[in-house]
Amino acid sequence: MAPTTRAFTEEKDIEELEESSVQFQALERRILEILREAGDNGILQREIWKKLDLDSRKGLKILRKLEAQGLLVKEQVTYKGRKTYILRLARKHEEIRLPDFLDNIPCFYCPYLQKCASGEREIYSCPKLQEWLEKDD
Ligand code: SF4
Repeated sequence: MAPTTRAFTEEKDIEELEESSVQFQALERRILEILREAGDNGILQREIWKKLDLDSRKGLKILRKLEAQGLLVKEQVTYKGRKTYILRLARKHEEIRLPDFLDNIPCFYCPYLQKCASGEREIYSCPKLQEWLEKDD
């Protein structure tokens, strides 16, 4: 089953999301993958939030960075009477295909990553990581 980002919806987590963090970069990668899958039709911004179970404030922070890097393009549309955006992958990013297994590493979506990275938490006894390591695919 694909990992979710439920752990990032708390206010505290949004404030702590740093652009340089592994979590931020993992979410960037997931958004780019969703845009790649959407192809030329693109995808409504709100659909990205739904797919990633992502708070829109955090999502917008990530989208702004991707747009500034020229990795996505936005088109304003009216959907169900409200202004929103359809997002598409910018041409220059279309050829980049990241390995799927990177999206399944549980640590990228885990709120304890910093504690594990610093040694404050013991990674060898983590059931989520153990389950991922023992998976065949
Ligand atoms: S080892 Fe476990 S607790 Fe630590 S970041 Fe990975 S998934 Fe989270």
